[in-house]
Amino acid sequence: MATIRFQALRETLNRKPITVVEPSMRRSELYCINVFNSTKAKHYMPKEAYNAVLDAINQGARIDRKMADQVASGMKAWAISRGATHYTHWFQPLTGTTAEKHDAFFEPTGEGTAIDKFDGSQLVQQEPDASSFPSGGIRNTFEARGYTAWDPTSPAFVMGTTLCIPTVFVSYTGEALDNKTPLLRALQSIDHAATDVARYFDKNVNKVICTLGWEQEYFLVDAALAVSRPDLTMAGRLLMGHQAAKGQQLEDNYFGSIPERALAFMRELEIECIQLGIPVKTRHNEVAPNQFEVAPLFEEANLAVDHNSLLMDVMAKVASHHHFKVLLHEKPVAGINGSGKHNNWSLSTDTGVNLLAPGKTPKSNLMFLTFFICAIKAVHDYADLLRASIASAGNDHRLGANEAPPAIISVFIGRQLTEVLNELEHVTTGNLSPEEKTELKLNVVGKIPEILLDNTDRNRTSPFAFTGNKFEFRAVGSSANCAKPMMVLNTIMAETLRRFKQDVDALIDGQHLKKDDAIFNVLREYIKASKKIRFEGDGYSEDWAKEAESRGLSNFKTTPEALKIQVAQSSIDLFEAHQVMNKVEIEARHEIELEEYTKRIQIEGRILGDIATNHVIPTAIAYQNTLIQNVRGLKEIFEADYLPHAAQQIEMIKGISSRIAHIKTFVDEMIEERKKANKIEHAEEKAEAYCNNVKPYFDKIKYHCDKLELMVDDELWPLTKTRELLFTR
Ligand code: ADP
Ligand code: MG
Repeated sequence: MATIRFQALRETLNRKPITVVEPSMRRSELYCINVFNSTKAKHYMPKEAYNAVLDAINQGARIDRKMADQVASGMKAWAISRGATHYTHWFQPLTGTTAEKHDAFFEPTGEGTAIDKFDGSQLVQQEPDASSFPSGGIRNTFEARGYTAWDPTSPAFVMGTTLCIPTVFVSYTGEALDNKTPLLRALQSIDHAATDVARYFDKNVNKVICTLGWEQEYFLVDAALAVSRPDLTMAGRLLMGHQAAKGQQLEDNYFGSIPERALAFMRELEIECIQLGIPVKTRHNEVAPNQFEVAPLFEEANLAVDHNSLLMDVMAKVASHHHFKVLLHEKPVAGINGSGKHNNWSLSTDTGVNLLAPGKTPKSNLMFLTFFICAIKAVHDYADLLRASIASAGNDHRLGANEAPPAIISVFIGRQLTEVLNELEHVTTGNLSPEEKTELKLNVVGKIPEILLDNTDRNRTSPFAFTGNKFEFRAVGSSANCAKPMMVLNTIMAETLRRFKQDVDALIDGQHLKKDDAIFNVLREYIKASKKIRFEGDGYSEDWAKEAESRGLSNFKTTPEALKIQVAQSSIDLFEAHQVMNKVEIEARHEIELEEYTKRIQIEGRILGDIATNHVIPTAIAYQNTLIQNVRGLKEIFEADYLPHAAQQIEMIKGISSRIAHIKTFVDEMIEERKKANKIEHAEEKAEAYCNNVKPYFDKIKYHCDKLELMVDDELWPLTKTRELLFTR
């Protein structure tokens, strides 16, 4: 009888927080202790090798074999000093997770002797058995092999006893098979485009980097309770379960005091992260019970993306020490908030200027406004691509569910900047009069420094909000790899900046406008052209969905719908123009994403069918039998007069029968739809069939199962209940 559930509850109730031993060193001393960063490289490598690595990082220069050997030798010596016995090329295949295959340094040399070996060739390139990673047909079409190649821009690190070398993963014909490669290409593109534009204002700028500060939301549930739920174990979310009577309605969790066991987990996580160079700084309770957030300081985007992938990995490991399971799913439990991963995004010059932060002088503010307005224009022009970049089966539950930004992409900038843009919208066409320019510089552009950081209003309902010195892309899902949204965002920004420069130069060369006048003219046009993407109101409201529609903004509610734009000719042209992805890569990714969607829904459908049929129905029947026994007994005692005593029980018996009948019918129908969908070859049609014909059964089945949960004796119910999962600590 319901043993797993009660065993799990008993286990959970007996848990004590694990004592986390704070290392003897302070966190500031521990920072990067397991990272082969430039300080260590300098110490462990000859000067020429160190300089070669710097050139590779800063100018993308190639590292020759001799240098690579020297780098490898230094890296090995350091790694062994940190206790490493193995090394691995660490990469991010399109499965969305990270991949590693460990090889020992140890190498026998014959006659019972051995050495520790790690040379340049092992550092620079590896050939993992790649056939089991998704490739969307790339490797079948071209070449059967893929290889990993060292990314010197992200430092190697030691995790446990393994030296991990961040790498890209590409096919032998050069197509990207991972998340990092297109991101690196997009970062290169934004560097060129943004540097060109920044040089209108400051000739000293030679490089622009993208900065990313992510905020990771997650749930912690007890490992024993999680194991008791097949849906949580395999799909990462509850596919059924009556809503707990108390959820988040009292709003007593957000920033509340952190439960002890969770705090112990966080402390160990932080210690691990800091040693790995992930600069985690913030921790707090989130809105839902058992929901938390961890956030680092921002870093260069490629490194930040690696660090987020690493964090997700480390979280799972640390959680197991504390008998927790980390839920990174976007919507683990219906009826309470799901989890997101805000991507705080900005651009920064090698002169140390944040291009999305208002400056101190009118000149630097004109630079800020240029980048700010171009960002809005980029989101306006490519809103659908941005939407596609965050589409996933998990995120479909969250977007537009009154807790996360809607699936409609819009930009929030706050009242003061709206006023500035309104003024700029009216500047004269052509050359500005000296008076107008003075007025603009003094009273419009010049006033911006007054909008200090703390002054920007916060609109939590916007998917893309300006927050004083950066944009916050809030619609990214909690389990997502940030590489994709960052790749898209930087590519569309690069394209917009490239066009901006073209437009400004055309006015300078063609119409002999002064530079500032040309810039004001183009900004005016961009403000007008992108106006409809700006929205300052409540993004969660019904009215916004209606208004957005009348503005002609898209509202793609499902992943198959949202992904379509990726393979449009305009998207292929864009990514090819910036050499971020070619047509083959785009189409392969598109197919992989559709397949992943299909598989996730397929798996959820199977699990739901199984638990409805094997857990819920038999339990309902067992309880129904008890009721039937009871009615029989009443009949025996009261004979002909039994009905007044048994009427309620008889109603319950009927109710249970009807729920069972519904569940059985819906499960059978769902299976039929799955069979039909499985016959479809075309990836997009198949995903659509799963989305439109299979998935709608989930809610119907859940509804009746949840009703039974309320009717059946609690002692018999086999599945850990929502309230237990969220409130047992
Ligand atoms: P919240 O959104 O929770 O109110 P903050 O506004 O304080 O939090 O900042 C959130 C995140 O923004 C932090 O992770 C921080 O590292 C990041 N951030 C701050 N400045 C930048 C920047 N220039 N580029 C990218 N991210 C940034
Ligand atoms: Mg935030």
